[in-house]
Amino acid sequence: MNDRMNRISGVRPKRGPRGLILEVGSDDARCVVPPELDVPDVDLDEVLGGAARSVLPHLPQVTEVEVARHYAHLASMNFGVDSGMYPLGSCTMKYNPRINEDAARLEGFAALHPAQPVGAIQGALELMVTLADVLGEISGLPSVTLQPAAGAHGELTALLCFRAFHTANGGPRSRVIIPDTAHGTNPATVSMCGYEVTTVPSDDRGRVDLVALREALDTDVAALMLTNPNTVGLFDDQILEITAAVHEVGALAYCDGANLNAIMGVSRPGDMGFDALHINLHKTFSTPHGGGGPGAGPVCVTPSLGAFLPGPIPVKYDDGTYGLSTPECSIGRVRSSYGNFGVLVRAYTYVRALGGAGIKEAAEQAVLSANYLKERLKHTYELPFDRHCMHEFVLSGRRQKKEHGVRALDIAKRLLDYGFHPPTVYFPLIVEEALMIEPTETEPLADLDRFADVMIAIAEEASTDPDTVKGAPYSTPVRRVDEARAVKRPDLRWSVGE
Ligand SMILES: *Cc1c(COP(=O)(O)O)cnc(C)c1O
Repeated sequence: MNDRMNRISGVRPKRGPRGLILEVGSDDARCVVPPELDVPDVDLDEVLGGAARSVLPHLPQVTEVEVARHYAHLASMNFGVDSGMYPLGSCTMKYNPRINEDAARLEGFAALHPAQPVGAIQGALELMVTLADVLGEISGLPSVTLQPAAGAHGELTALLCFRAFHTANGGPRSRVIIPDTAHGTNPATVSMCGYEVTTVPSDDRGRVDLVALREALDTDVAALMLTNPNTVGLFDDQILEITAAVHEVGALAYCDGANLNAIMGVSRPGDMGFDALHINLHKTFSTPHGGGGPGAGPVCVTPSLGAFLPGPIPVKYDDGTYGLSTPECSIGRVRSSYGNFGVLVRAYTYVRALGGAGIKEAAEQAVLSANYLKERLKHTYELPFDRHCMHEFVLSGRRQKKEHGVRALDIAKRLLDYGFHPPTVYFPLIVEEALMIEPTETEPLADLDRFADVMIAIAEEASTDPDTVKGAPYSTPVRRVDEARAVKRPDLRWSVGE
């Protein structure tokens, strides 16, 4: 059947790229028919004083059904959380409940203009004040800015506050300490803030090596940046000693809270001794994520650092009305308007829908899902740190590479053929052939089991038929790309007629 179909000229492959919207349609196709003119006809060129363009723009000429099919096809070529399990460790690709979208589309939110006077946006300000209070409570760090537009932007905001704090207290200091498991944005943030990075190693249990940390600490150190639970998916049980050691030299402790999925409603970074953290609403709080779209990386800090936060900050006055206030020693704005307001509405809806008990339950479920998968897979793949994990865990494909020449990348690509998005690979850097798996709390048990079965089947295939694994994927719109060339010589243009 397939062979016969392919012989009919003009039949396009179902899933492959089909071209641009400009290649669809015909010159007389119309999607919209404007109403009859009920005002006098004018010569545009005359009105514009001869400035009208002489050549018409090359715009798509398509019917409504062609538009619908074109974009539905593009969407079907993509893989998203709504298509299947997306266990991309550290990125928390959880399901985005549709009620969040409903709320964000309410006209009273969606049609607001950021320049409207404070008196006309009381509801929006109330939402932001309430969301900030919730984040302050979850983190144990009560002073909050919602302005940053992403996690990395939150890191930058917090470190600029740290710099302002130290400068006000004698000098900015020169170094920031980061463990070797850190997310790549951490060292980038440190450099952007004019600090030098000092890396500390992990111990054999995946925690910060406390002895090395103590050696690295002195009064040149401005801060420690730490992810807890860290990117190996482990909770650092020495956290109180770590933050105390940092404070002893007058430095500040920063928590990379991009991913609070394991601890929200269970333990609080503020209680662990951290002075600041950012939270990715587009991870933990179920707002859409990926494709470079809008996100939000609110920053929560201790009351004494609150004076340095960017402004203006939405506040509630004693008379029950809402307004804006800029902190005393504010580092200034980091984002126009109020940040990505639509994302804030979605996150607010999520926390209101779950409630306090629901947030804790989501965290517990995320940890349970990860531990379940870890136990199912740890005999097939190497598990470098065989401890109770948090919301994610890291396997190593070292055995498959050594015995059959099949790498973590090959396993990741083969998963695509089975309808799963691959886990994060080759991160964190301390694990060879790393496969970092985060199932999240929203995955049904049947899908967790299917994923485990497929991972085990791929390991089996790696031993019996390694070339098949190495050639994957076979079923995707785009087969395996040359990754080095894609980075060094990206070809992002579509040539008409190709
Ligand atoms: C995702 C992530 C970040 C960066 O967040 P962006 O919104 O992508 O800038 C930082 N740290 C950790 C641990 C992350 O997982």
